[in-house]
Amino acid sequence: MGRDRHPNAVLLIGLGRFGGTLAETLQRMGHDVVAVDANRVIVQEWSGTLTHVVEADATSEAALRQLGAEGFDRAVVAIGTGIEASLLAAGTLLDLGVPEVWAKAITRQHGRILERLGVSHVVYPERDAGERVAHLLSGRLLDFI
Ligand code: ATP
Repeated sequence: MGRDRHPNAVLLIGLGRFGGTLAETLQRMGHDVVAVDANRVIVQEWSGTLTHVVEADATSEAALRQLGAEGFDRAVVAIGTGIEASLLAAGTLLDLGVPEVWAKAITRQHGRILERLGVSHVVYPERDAGERVAHLLSGRLLDFI
């Protein structure tokens, strides 16, 4: 992929439940997605669904450079449980000059460190889903008052 620019594409790191759903949904909406996962089995599982899936360790600056990460304006780090990998991948993408880095956090502490690194959007999927379900349930409960 070299030094080409990919202004409308999204570089997505980590094809877990969150990252996989995000990649699939973005692609269905018509966006170009380059998805990266370190696990060969996961890469093979997604290769039938996603157009661009690459096996690489996103904590490695050399691997990210080889993928042409500097050419992306937007990247998402969808690694949660592996906090060290999440922080290293996010930090490396920022070092490479990717202007907009989004990242998933699993705890407030994880999120605060991502923010301190300079991540522009920290998302908390479990917390956000809990709030959404509370609103939906509350709407239904109000129907019975
Ligand atoms: P989920 O979205 O399923 O809840 P999770 O928060 O438990 O995921 P992880 O399992 O830590 O997050 O990571 C999500 C995905 O990221 C996995 O498929 C894993 O293989 C991938 N991953 C982890 N470390 C790296 C890395 N260094 N480089 C690329 N991909 C990675």
